[in-house]
Amino acid sequence: MMCAMSDLLVRAARVVPLDGEPYAEPVDVLVRSGAVAAVGRELPDAGVPEIDADGRWLVPGLWDAHVHLGQWAIASRRLDLSAARTPEEALAVVARAVDAGRPVVGMGHRAGTWSRPVTVAELDAVSGSVPVVLVNSDCHHGWLNTAGLDALGLARRDEVVSEGEWFDAYPRLTALVGGPTVDDYQRVLARAASRGVVGVVDFEFGAPWTDWASRWDEGCDLLRVRWSAYADTLDAALAAGLRTGAELAPGLSVGSLKIISDGSLGTRTAWCCEPYADTGGHGAPNQSAAELHDLLTRGTANGFTVATHAIGDRALAEALAVYAATGAAGSIEHAQLVTRDAVADLARLGLTASVQPAHLLDDRTTSERVWPGRGERSFALRWLRDAGVPIALGSDAPVAPLDPWLAISAAVHRGDPADEPWHPEQALSTGEALSASVDGRRTRVGEPGDLVLLDADPLAASPAALRDLSAALTVVGGRVVWGR
Ligand SMILES: [Zn+2]
Repeated sequence: MMCAMSDLLVRAARVVPLDGEPYAEPVDVLVRSGAVAAVGRELPDAGVPEIDADGRWLVPGLWDAHVHLGQWAIASRRLDLSAARTPEEALAVVARAVDAGRPVVGMGHRAGTWSRPVTVAELDAVSGSVPVVLVNSDCHHGWLNTAGLDALGLARRDEVVSEGEWFDAYPRLTALVGGPTVDDYQRVLARAASRGVVGVVDFEFGAPWTDWASRWDEGCDLLRVRWSAYADTLDAALAAGLRTGAELAPGLSVGSLKIISDGSLGTRTAWCCEPYADTGGHGAPNQSAAELHDLLTRGTANGFTVATHAIGDRALAEALAVYAATGAAGSIEHAQLVTRDAVADLARLGLTASVQPAHLLDDRTTSERVWPGRGERSFALRWLRDAGVPIALGSDAPVAPLDPWLAISAAVHRGDPADEPWHPEQALSTGEALSASVDGRRTRVGEPGDLVLLDADPLAASPAALRDLSAALTVVGGRVVWGR
């Protein structure tokens, strides 16, 4: 249990220098009662459990600063169809899965690479009355059997459900397969631990703090979690006397008030200064300036930092003006399209830029098309870093996998490792990307005993190797939560 903050002595670890200094000799790190108590060469026996790092590379525990953990947990139990090279292979996987008799939701097939369109009839033939919903890898269509169409209230047909009709139906999937279970949460937390993650900032929608408190008691306490309020869950938190930084349990704390101020690039709803090249629209804000002002004032007056989703450059400028006017502290989530002025304002206001670099892997093509000439201002990590804006990397899982190494690789290479980088002038160094992934921590006395041992030197890894880096050991508060 997290509540038992532990003692541990890790011997002979090479501390990865995140601030540009050279590597020093391997050191021992002593964790006592959950915090780093000593760092030095050949520390004396402390009467606590010891682990020999054998010269492995040590970094502070990794954080994912933006996840929707409930949705990620649901995604984790979906049938994986990414390996299906033909409709027949996908049908064979489905045929095995329907044996359990429960509705089947699959993800990841790539219909665009198949040689023929698929039919509802062939899916019916392997699944009968069990509802089956298969989500294409780009999420732009669903291949459903007849029982699945009925279950989601869609008209019967013999082809896939796509685009607008599919997007409308998608949220109804939760009603079909239920929300995430304790098992689902435990599975995704354990998988995150295996990637070196010690903490997540959870931005799940419509989830009161009591959900996490009870889930924690049910054993979902492997990693540190920061719960976030939304406008609709803030009142209950305030009634309970909570504010940012409050501890609900050791390791479970209250994060920010989250506000979604605009939309997204993919739907052309992110609010922009210049029009989208394809639709001619500018996107739109989700709140008026007065509403945004009220929300930030209310959060700030009640001791909450504020995390404001702003993807378009107009939304960012508006949000920054309201932070300046209200004196709110916190973060801008995504900050996908910035201006030089906005970067300067972020620095001046002391706000964190919470950015998800893996989104650029998906968005670069769309960006070039609909935000022509604005690529340099997209995911502008170099500008942010050079201006002194604190950067926190994340995944926005399930939009991208909850995997900090994918984010770090994308921040460093700005593209798939096999592709040319996209606007490499905005890249971070590996050390900079790592230091944006550890919640501001360093391995030194007084810091939480959250440690990760790596089998390879991350600072020497190629972008492709960075993606494959994994943890040999993950420690939260001196407690081993993952080890090989
Ligand atoms: Zn999000």
